[in-house]
Amino acid sequence: MKEKQNSICLRPHHGMCLAYFEGKGYTQGFTAHMGKILELLKKDVYVKLTVGGDTICSACPNLKEQTCITENLVEEYDRKVLLLCGLQENEIIPFTELTEKVEKFILHPEKRKEICGNCQWNEICSSRKSRWTKE
Ligand code: SF4
Repeated sequence: MKEKQNSICLRPHHGMCLAYFEGKGYTQGFTAHMGKILELLKKDVYVKLTVGGDTICSACPNLKEQTCITENLVEEYDRKVLLLCGLQENEIIPFTELTEKVEKFILHPEKRKEICGNCQWNEICSSRKSRWTKE
């Protein structure tokens, strides 16, 4: 396990997005970056649950002058994920703990659409199996 002080900022709702990520996204640069982050996160790292721009947002074309153009929408997603998973903003936890809780409290009981059913990628995520599901 990597050190807690080297935690990676991650928006809580990205714990859901990464479960379904299949290489599609806003731009090629963004998806390539997201793929790299996913590989990094899978290496047993700590994440800081950040309601705001995170390491994935840093390559997003929707980030204008450090602010997401859909900030209110995604902030709501983040807060709902924190609530359902019993987690706190700015808490530092292992990435695996986030994925286990997201799977157990949101994805497996099929509550994801209640949180982000209005997202433009909803159809893709609806058609995919969560990669956090234990076989
Ligand atoms: S529908 Fe959008 S916000 Fe929800 S998991 Fe998929 S990409 Fe993320």
